[in-house]
Amino acid sequence: MSLNASSSRAEEPTREPLYEIQPVTGKGRGIVACSNIPKGTQILCEKPLLTLASEIDSFDDGIVRKVRALSKDQQRQYLSLGNSCTKGNVFTGIFQTNALPCESTPPTAGIFPTICLINHSCVPNSQHSWNSMKNSQMIHAVRDIEQGEEITICYGKQGAFDARRDYLIESFSFECDCSVCSLSISERQESDARRIRIE
Ligand SMILES: [Zn+2]
Repeated sequence: MSLNASSSRAEEPTREPLYEIQPVTGKGRGIVACSNIPKGTQILCEKPLLTLASEIDSFDDGIVRKVRALSKDQQRQYLSLGNSCTKGNVFTGIFQTNALPCESTPPTAGIFPTICLINHSCVPNSQHSWNSMKNSQMIHAVRDIEQGEEITICYGKQGAFDARRDYLIESFSFECDCSVCSLSISERQESDARRIRIE
C-alpha cells in the first residue's frame, strides 16, 4: 500500500471568532456577532463550569460546594455572571438566574461562562441545545445574523406578550424590549394572535 499526500488529513483551518463579548445598553454584557453568520452555523460549543442534577444534589449546599471546588479563575467567571435574585445566597442566585438545561435524565442544569452572557429575545436569532456526546452546550444560528447584531436566545417562554412579560419579570427581573415587545399595542395584538396560532 502506498501512502500519498491525500491520505494525510489537513489540519482544520483556524476559524476567526464569530462573536465578541461586549457591553450592551441596558443589559450589562452580551455577545455580538463580529462577522456575518449564516443560519445553521454553530456559534459556540462550551463545557459547563458546573452542573447540578435536581434529583441528586441538594440545591443550596450542592451549589456552594461546587462553586468552592472550582479554580479561582472559574470562581471569578461564576461570580461575574448576573444575579436577578434579591434574596438568599449569591451563589444560588447566580445559578437560578443563569442555569441552562443539560441532561434530561436525571434533570440537570449547568452554568456556562460565555453562553450565560447571551441575552434574551422573544424573537431570538439563535438557540441553545445540550450535546451529551460532547458534554457541552451548543449555540446555533436559527437565521442569518449580520455582523454587529447581538446574539440572542429565548429564555424559555413563548406565547402572548402578557405571559412572556410576567415570566421574564418573575424569573429574571427584567422587561424585554425586543422587536416584538416594542411593537405598538395593535401590532402586538396581531403578533400575539399569530404566535398563539403557531404554537
Ligand atoms: Zn421580547
